[in-house]
Amino acid sequence: MRFTRLRLNGFKSFVDPTDLVIHDGLTGIVGPNGCGKSNLLEALRWVMGENRPTAMRGGGMEDVIFAGAATRPARNYAEVSLHIDNSERLAPAAFNDADELDIVRRITRDAGSAYKVGTKDVRARDVQMLFADASTGSHSPALVRQGQISELINARPQNRRRILEEAAGISGLYARRHEAELKLKGAEANLARVDDVIEQLA
Ligand code: ATP
Repeated sequence: MRFTRLRLNGFKSFVDPTDLVIHDGLTGIVGPNGCGKSNLLEALRWVMGENRPTAMRGGGMEDVIFAGAATRPARNYAEVSLHIDNSERLAPAAFNDADELDIVRRITRDAGSAYKVGTKDVRARDVQMLFADASTGSHSPALVRQGQISELINARPQNRRRILEEAAGISGLYARRHEAELKLKGAEANLARVDDVIEQLA
């Protein structure tokens, strides 16, 4: 899966629809302080399902919506879409039926986030799994934010292990195991409840 275009609309400082075309090889983004370079990386994380406002340098998720400027009113929603070249058919099975994929996340004030893959409405978890299975995602070690290198150097071994697991592409499996364990606990609780009922009836 190759990312080929990131489209921002109303996301942070990108109030007007803006395309970042990602060509083969290296794409560099240069510009003066505060022009929005980090906002681009945050948009990429966000469309992949990032749900921690702190990772977006905000107090709440709605802080990613353009907040207005002297000459422009605030926007009511923000949308980011990521265009993926899937011609090698490396996307996870559920989404692997097209040569190109568009993953879209939109947040509307007071209504939260909605996700789409192509024209299909999906859950945040589906998008997070899609990227986790492709060994990437909002926590990918390939996305390095400012100050992260020193954090890595000072990280505890457990946290470093998490980073290695992300890189190895097995974090999706861990998430699934966690969900399976929760389901198992629920089933065990239900069984215990059934035992109680049977005991009362006997
Ligand atoms: P530096 O080189 O200093 O790291 P940068 O190019 O990475 O800067 P960013 O940090 O991406 O710049 O962008 C910061 C700009 O984005 C600031 O001008 C800030 O006001 C603007 N910004 C952030 N959130 C919003 C928002 N919700 N609405 C409007 N503008 C926003």
